[in-house]
Amino acid sequence: MTQEYSYKIIYGTLFLIFILIRIPWTREIKKNVNKRKKGVIREKFLTAMVAVGTMIVPLVWIFSGLFQGAAMDLPPVVRISGIITAILSMWLFHEVHKTLGKNWSPILEIREGHTLIKQGPYKKIRHPMYTQIWIWVIAQFLIASNWIVGAAGLIPWSFLYFIRVPKEEKMMQEEFGEEYLAYMEQTGRIFPKL
Ligand code: SAH
Repeated sequence: MTQEYSYKIIYGTLFLIFILIRIPWTREIKKNVNKRKKGVIREKFLTAMVAVGTMIVPLVWIFSGLFQGAAMDLPPVVRISGIITAILSMWLFHEVHKTLGKNWSPILEIREGHTLIKQGPYKKIRHPMYTQIWIWVIAQFLIASNWIVGAAGLIPWSFLYFIRVPKEEKMMQEEFGEEYLAYMEQTGRIFPKL
């Protein structure tokens, strides 16, 4: 087995674990009633682009040699740091989903009975799930050590992040008013406010 194969297997396994953490929440939110949605078509398009870049492209990389020409030859220590970081970020992903509970949604929406979460990972960071996704797309770049696979994760995610976050914060302000403004004061966007 070549070294490249080991990276592919490890990456594939981590990817599977992330999917397994998410699946129960995807089922859970189907039971929810939506009160308000924002920019549904834009949101769905951006989410689909991120799904292609973080799922389809890495799967093609794992199962074919199609992107071999874009290999970057990063040193093993860098690729292994990517693996360790991705493993650590799994804990964050799990905690964030558990804390956000039924308030989670893959697009921007407010649900019946939506509550403003300010505890756990949300105590110092407003968007800990996005922190985790940044970590994941960077890890994807490092583990795959491939320009195409790396860019496929980073570019659509950057678009989604920078377009969505101001709109998400505006939506949350409209819903929770002063409470959200005060919450913004005490938190950082993706880094903890010290
Ligand atoms: N931006 C957050 C949540 C991502 S999921 C994070 O990165 O952790 C997106 C949905 O979460 C949005 O539709 C919004 O309704 C909801 N949301 C975002 N922040 C929230 C909070 N502090 N409490 C409750 N719901 C929140």
